[in-house]
Amino acid sequence: MLTDYHVHLRDDDDLRAAEDAAFTDANVDRYLEVAGEAGVAELGCSEHIHRFRQALELWRHPFWEEQAHDDIDRYCEFVRSTPLRLGIEMDFIPGAEDRIANLLDRGDYDYVIGSVHFVEAHAVDQERFDVLEWIGDPDVVWRRYFETLAEAARSGLFDILAHPDLVKYWGRARPTPDRDPRFYYEPAVEAIAETGVAVEVSTAGLRKPVGELYPAPALAEMCVDAGAAFALSSDAHVPDDVGRDYDRAVDAMRDWGIDEIAVFERRSRSMEPLG
Ligand SMILES: [Zn+2]
Ligand SMILES: [Zn+2]
Repeated sequence: MLTDYHVHLRDDDDLRAAEDAAFTDANVDRYLEVAGEAGVAELGCSEHIHRFRQALELWRHPFWEEQAHDDIDRYCEFVRSTPLRLGIEMDFIPGAEDRIANLLDRGDYDYVIGSVHFVEAHAVDQERFDVLEWIGDPDVVWRRYFETLAEAARSGLFDILAHPDLVKYWGRARPTPDRDPRFYYEPAVEAIAETGVAVEVSTAGLRKPVGELYPAPALAEMCVDAGAAFALSSDAHVPDDVGRDYDRAVDAMRDWGIDEIAVFERRSRSMEPLG
């Protein structure tokens, strides 16, 4: 079985454009067609929470203020009318756990993908609001990122942790800590082991400056040793990226000792053979 659960029907740059163009059967068909060619048996949609007006009940970050146009109930209703699994990519916002839980309760999701894109109000994967510029020391950035990821796991709000080492996004283009990265992974892996949340293997990293899968091999191996379950996704924002580089992902997963992937329906998880 191959899945692609972390998929966006709207591209990042189309801002006000097109709730109407994105959430249509014709657009979904474009994604399904590529999924079929890539051998992806289960395709799901997980739009960014910050696309939705209701997200502003959780956080009023300037980036969200600018992005929040769509209606979340309409989104859920639309995705349910298609063959897609219904998911959402929800940022973990420390302190907003109750409000996140309430907002999630409004939808009948198949799965909720938890993401850490920010340390406080500073972004790990955007030039704007750049976290390294704010903190200065990559050692502190990495520590705080993985501590936040651990908190996200412990919140119990999520079925899957997205792109678990997103903090490496810039690769060599930005300074990284000198220490062995396993030092930073440790608290997150401990939280993953305790909570059983699934870890996403994402091919998106291959398309970013870092040029490698999320997670890095050392993090993946620590998660395997901790008994974690894994989900597989592309984080596509356009149809052509659905199931992209899955041959590389599946090879890497087998190398790491992973032979099953997590599948979800109405927030209940089962495991299927990988591939
Ligand atoms: Zn993300
Ligand atoms: Zn995403």
